[in-house]
Amino acid sequence: MAEAIFPPDEQVIPLYDIARTIPCIVVHELRAPIWDMLMLLRRADIEGLARVHKASKLIAVKIPSTESALVMLDPSITKHSRRYNLDWEGCSDVPYHVGQVRRPDTLTIKYTDITGRKREKEFGGSSHIGQELARNLEHEIDHLDGGDFLDRGRRLVQVVLKHEFKL
Ligand SMILES: [Zn+2]
Repeated sequence: MAEAIFPPDEQVIPLYDIARTIPCIVVHELRAPIWDMLMLLRRADIEGLARVHKASKLIAVKIPSTESALVMLDPSITKHSRRYNLDWEGCSDVPYHVGQVRRPDTLTIKYTDITGRKREKEFGGSSHIGQELARNLEHEIDHLDGGDFLDRGRRLVQVVLKHEFKL
C-alpha cells in the first residue's frame, strides 16, 4: 500500500500548539478567524471547516489519525485522480443524516498557505488515511462553492438517517 501523500511539515499545524502558528499568518485580519476554526477543530468532533471571511475563502481540515490540521486560503481543485473510493460522511449542514459519497483518491489543490505562499500540491493517496484526507478536503472545498454532499449528483450513492446508520 502506498504511503498517504502529506504536505511538507511547515504546513502542518499541531492542534495542541495553535498559538505557535498564528504569528505565521501573513494576512493579519485572518488571524482571528483561523484561530477560531482551529480551536473548533480541536474541541469538536469534526474533521473540517469552511468559512468565507470578507474576500478570503478558508478551510481547516484535520489530518486523519493525527493531532494536526491543514489550513488553506482560497483553495481550488485543479486535478483529481481517476480512482475513486466510496465511504460515508456527515456534515453539520445536513443534520441527522450521513451520506455515502464517491470521492477521488487524490486531489491536486491550488491554494495560498498561511505564510502567504502560493502552492499547488497533491493530497491523498491509496491508503485509507490518504483517501480520508482527500475526502475531507474536497468536502470543505465544496462548501466554499456553496454546496454540500447532497449536491454531489451521481457521486452521492445513498443518504440515510444517522440513527439508522450501521457500518
Ligand atoms: Zn460539511
